[in-house]
Amino acid sequence: MRAPLAGPRVLLRRLREIMAEPISAQVRLDKIVVQIAANMVAEVCSAYILRSDGILELYASEGLKREAVHNVTLKVGQGLVGLIAADAQALNLPDAQAHPAFAYLPETGEEIYHSFLGVPILRAGRALGVLVVQNRAHRTYTDEELEALQTIAMVLAEMIAAGDLEGLSRTGAVLDISRPLTITGKGFCDGVGIGRVVLHEPRVVVTNLIADDIASERDRLNDALTSLRLSVDDMLARGDVARDGEHREVLEAYRMFAHDRGWVRRMEEAIVTGLTAEAAVERVQNDTRARLQRQTDPYLYERLHDFDDLANRLLRVLMGRVDGKLGMDLPGDAIIVARNMGAAELLDYDRTRVRGLVLEDGTPTSHVTIVARALGIPTVGRADNVVSLAENADAIIVDGETGQVHLRPGADVVFAYNEKIQFRAERQQRYRLLRDKPAVTRDGVSVGLSVNAGLLVDLPHLAESGADGIGLFRTELQFMIASKLPRISEQAALYRSVLESAAGRPVTFRTLDIGGDKVLPYLRVEHEENPALGWRAIRFGLDRPGLFRTQIRALLLASGGQELRIMIPMVTDVAEMVEARKLIDRELSHFDKHGHVKPSRLLVGAMVEVPSLLWQLDALMQVADFVSVGTNDLFQFMTATDRGNLRVANRFDPLSAPFLSALRSVAEAGRRAGVPVTLCGEIAGQPIAAMALLGLGYRSLSMAPASIGPVKAMLLGLDLGRLDGLVNRLLAAPGVPDGIRAGLRSFAEAEDVPV
Ligand code: PEP
Ligand code: MG
Repeated sequence: MRAPLAGPRVLLRRLREIMAEPISAQVRLDKIVVQIAANMVAEVCSAYILRSDGILELYASEGLKREAVHNVTLKVGQGLVGLIAADAQALNLPDAQAHPAFAYLPETGEEIYHSFLGVPILRAGRALGVLVVQNRAHRTYTDEELEALQTIAMVLAEMIAAGDLEGLSRTGAVLDISRPLTITGKGFCDGVGIGRVVLHEPRVVVTNLIADDIASERDRLNDALTSLRLSVDDMLARGDVARDGEHREVLEAYRMFAHDRGWVRRMEEAIVTGLTAEAAVERVQNDTRARLQRQTDPYLYERLHDFDDLANRLLRVLMGRVDGKLGMDLPGDAIIVARNMGAAELLDYDRTRVRGLVLEDGTPTSHVTIVARALGIPTVGRADNVVSLAENADAIIVDGETGQVHLRPGADVVFAYNEKIQFRAERQQRYRLLRDKPAVTRDGVSVGLSVNAGLLVDLPHLAESGADGIGLFRTELQFMIASKLPRISEQAALYRSVLESAAGRPVTFRTLDIGGDKVLPYLRVEHEENPALGWRAIRFGLDRPGLFRTQIRALLLASGGQELRIMIPMVTDVAEMVEARKLIDRELSHFDKHGHVKPSRLLVGAMVEVPSLLWQLDALMQVADFVSVGTNDLFQFMTATDRGNLRVANRFDPLSAPFLSALRSVAEAGRRAGVPVTLCGEIAGQPIAAMALLGLGYRSLSMAPASIGPVKAMLLGLDLGRLDGLVNRLLAAPGVPDGIRAGLRSFAEAEDVPV
């Protein structure tokens, strides 16, 4: 008879010794189950490990028949063990055989044992196996015993994750941790990336699990909690809380959670069982993640996610990585995986090493997506749970066309993607051949194709794509990526480089469009309930003319005698255009007075992106030298759907009668007044939408550089005369769901137009 050992702390210490012994993984696992059984005074202790084929295999047992090890298997969901793995939840039963899920396995000889305690072996919320103890007597295990078994399961999870148990199965099966997974999200930026996972907020890997001194671990936890709470308070007090996507409500929830007594108590209890402070945080985080995986209520899902984020922060504080960066070297084939991130954070990465981006959230028109598109980074958004399922350095493929993310792909998937990359390279080559061809339809109508840009990295695309110019230069991006307000000389230097690289082709500089989802960390503005409808863009510019005038001066300085085009964002009332123009004229005369070289021609245009302008079009055309339709915003305001809210952003189709009618009225008003009209929203870059726009009368489009090839291929194959009338007919037809898109598609098919 073995004498029972006292308490989980002793057991953890014993486990640490076993982990350090120079023995094979199987012997180590065998010793571990013997120790657990002895410590918990159990007759049986068994470890079932999940294989990649979804089968749980008995890997070690003390108490069950020897020959059962590596021979007994259960499917996930089958029997009590399968149920624990499926639900990622513990079972504590005084009479296991009375449970409806009990499955009798004669080869184990377990029929003589009645009480049963089983816990999932969890990692990042996923069950990688099940750890069980059993006794002959009918008994209910205490909460302390349950906690102890959960703690030991963590040690086993680390062994599995470290690959120690790989290769032990007699069938040669691999374990679930290396299982290939496909997540289907939404394609945000086209392209395929093959590479390795880089978690944007790297999970801290806790390797030191077992405590030497309980009291000092408790102190460490309390100190870390204090500093976490202070940092959350600090972020809330700073007033720039929308930065990094950390919206105020999230932070307020964080503040509440950081004081949550239940959370703190559970971590303290885990320390008492013998874990280090960081292992205790992770233990409790594992439970949160297991609940997260099962959660279907979106509100609770978000809250659990917040808890998960908070636990990550706490881990970083405990491990001395307060800034959140682990200093990991970026591999040359990095695929960044994040819940969400700001545009500036994406720009922090070395572009030459980033092959793709995967986000759990995000929308096609959110700022980070626009920047990813400008950088040509294949991006998938709305990839559910990808952050918990991916590990740093996992192999990964991102398909921005289909929206699929393949984690740890098998050889066949990698092969298929290599083929796809080859095919795409050939297609790109064909687009390149189109580069110098004039953008003229089959029936001789020429169309202006320009690119959208905003950063120095965009500039080479202008020549590469063969575009006519830059139809939209988003000047706020320079401000967004800077850590402080760019000085006039810095602004002028950027604008000068842009004009130089455009080499005489027209460039339309849009004045600062700050506000909404575009937040400057260093510019303190009041918290707004609805920033998209708030104090932003030209509203801000007119109220605080200092910033606006400095920018105009920088633009005038940069233009150095060339033509200068300035575009005003978020114009809501024609009077704002008049006022903005006055400010510009004032700068111009100031400039003149000082004897600087004036632009050879100065054109001031308006963006049409607020619906109220649709009823002032004729007046607008009188005061604007050109207009450009910003469909990203116009669509969000017309349909009352937040472009950054993934629940509604794709709810309505821009290719629908009300929206297309609005776009047609702008084109018509421009034609009546002889004022050039462009369209620079994201839809201009989608061949089928671009075709509809040509049908509505648009002759100038501005888009992401990667879209120039596909849109040009479309228009080279299009006989516009045959499309004329179709769009108008479709708009007049009674509303059939999907009718316009379907009608355009069948036209393109019949006419062999590549859309
Ligand atoms: C738009 O609103 O369509 C647009 C082009 O501007 P942004 O996406 O920068 O708001
Ligand atoms: Mg806009």
